[in-house]
This record gives sequence, C-alpha cells and structure tokens, in this order.
Amino acid sequence: MIFGRRCPICLSYGPSPCVDCIGSMQAPRGLVVPDGCTDMVALVSYSGNGRELVRALKYRGHRDATAWIALNLQRLLEVSRPAVCTWIPASSTSRRRNGFDHAAILARRLAKEMRIPARKLLKRTDKGEQVGRSASLRGANVAFATRSKVDRRVVLVDDVITTGASFRSAARVLRGAGATDVYGVVVAATPKR
Ligand SMILES: [Zn+2]
Repeated sequence: MIFGRRCPICLSYGPSPCVDCIGSMQAPRGLVVPDGCTDMVALVSYSGNGRELVRALKYRGHRDATAWIALNLQRLLEVSRPAVCTWIPASSTSRRRNGFDHAAILARRLAKEMRIPARKLLKRTDKGEQVGRSASLRGANVAFATRSKVDRRVVLVDDVITTGASFRSAARVLRGAGATDVYGVVVAATPKR
C-alpha cells in the first residue's frame, strides 16, 4: 500500500490537484452576487475538471485537494475582521448518503487558512433533496434557521452555486440574526447558459 497525496481528478500521486488538472480547469464566468451577500467568490467553473474536483470531495470523500482549495479561496477573499466562517449545511439525505458534510470540511479548512473561527451557525429546516432536480427548481425549497446569535461578518461556504437560492436564503437568516456582512464562497460556479 502506498501512502501519499493524490490528485482527486486523475488520481496521480503528488500535488493535489496536479499541475495538469489545475491547468485544465476553467475560471468561473457569469458569477452573480446573490441578494443579501456582500460578495461572492468561486474558484473554478462547475464544468469539466472543475466539476470532477467537487464530485471527488462530495461523493467520494477525497479530501487531498481541500488544502489547495482553501488556500486559493482565501487569496480571492477580502474580509476584514472580526469574522466567523460557516457553511450551508447539507440535507439530511445527502449527509446520510455520503456519511459527512463536505461543505463543513471545506469551511473548517478555510477558517484555518483565514485564522478565524469556524462555527455551525445554520441548520436546515426543509427536508430537501436536490439531486436529480432541474437547476431552476434546485434550492427553491431550501430553508434555514440560525442556531445562535450572529454579530459579525460571516464567511458562508458551499461547494457549488447554481441559482444562488441557498445563499439568498441563508444570507437572509444570518442578517436577521445580526450579521453585518455575508461573504459567499464556493469551490465552483455553474456556468450560465
Ligand atoms: Zn490530476
């Protein structure tokens, strides 16, 4: 058995992701800042290898590239302190199927990179299952509640942004609980057609 980091896309040993796979990922385009968010950043387009990067984390639990993702997202973000990092919680169905909440893993790593605390501030109040639904319906029934009072700038993490409905809904709740700014962060943005 060989131990070592692997590229989540081509599975070669070494840097994760490898230089070739990074080179073939596309920059996000057409990214819109959802209502309620102060800013929105995405690392790559949710297409080709960008999609494979997310799928490796989400469905296969491949975490080797998490450090690279967090480092590069941190470089894209400009957030003044104090701030707290949180995430859009996965549906209970998704968490049961995958055995973990990948957005939480990303958020904790990004918080470490930013040297700010990571806290679970949101919980889902819907029973939503998003896989298999069309993009226009996805997120339409996503609802959140805060677990605690929020009194500062919040960095809000998810894996992918499609319609932005989850971010709009979560940002509304966080601001209602006292957040002054909500900075949206995703690994990948679904390209606009
Ligand atoms: Zn690779």
